[in-house]
Amino acid sequence: MPFKFFRAVGCLTVLVLAVVSGFAADEGEIPSPKTEPKIIDPGPPPSDAIVLFDGEDLSQWKSEKDGGPARWDVKDGAATVNGTGSIATKQSFGDCQLHVEWAAPAEVKGEGQGRGNSGIYLQGRYELQVLDSYNNKTYYHGQAGAIYKQHAPLVNACREPGEWQTYDIIFHAPRFDEHGKLAKPATITVLQNGVLVQDNVEIKGNTAFKGAPKYQPHPLKQPLALQDHHNPVRFRNIWIREL
Ligand code: MG
Repeated sequence: MPFKFFRAVGCLTVLVLAVVSGFAADEGEIPSPKTEPKIIDPGPPPSDAIVLFDGEDLSQWKSEKDGGPARWDVKDGAATVNGTGSIATKQSFGDCQLHVEWAAPAEVKGEGQGRGNSGIYLQGRYELQVLDSYNNKTYYHGQAGAIYKQHAPLVNACREPGEWQTYDIIFHAPRFDEHGKLAKPATITVLQNGVLVQDNVEIKGNTAFKGAPKYQPHPLKQPLALQDHHNPVRFRNIWIREL
């Protein structure tokens, strides 16, 4: 009896081990998530994007200074900087994917920071530089594709002045704790004309012309702004996807 009992236990153990080892072969497999990825039309613009400028009007924008109507010139599907001041979106955004097309003036005027200067101000305070950096020297973290005065672009992927260029941006907003202390800095990835120019870099604070950039606490979502640097830079096809 005891012998039979031990034999039975032995057999059972072997069986259990076999079953367990059978399962163990699948241990590393990652189960498929339960929610199906949402089906969208990739466009462009993607069907789930908010179109901020489609070439018709600046109704999604306001003057950054006084909150009145955005007064840049809209003609032939483009909005042109005209010295009336920077403009900001009426809506606020946090983490996002942003697409912007821009063109430096075809007629080359000025040099360095004075040639085709504008900027994409994420959350109204973190500048991705827009500049005619085609045969135009300036400090490296001030040229097109730079996070102004923080990160130079990985390469200079600029097209000739007058030609349309694209920025595709993935931005994660900074997080602040309940005391206003920085909990997580903002990060940004940028492709210029399809070429990676910023690879998930950490933003060090508000864009500053002089001195070190510093964070100032703000709500998670903030308006997006475009800079008026008194150069007639053109913009078109601006859309954003909230992440
Ligand atoms: Mg600028």
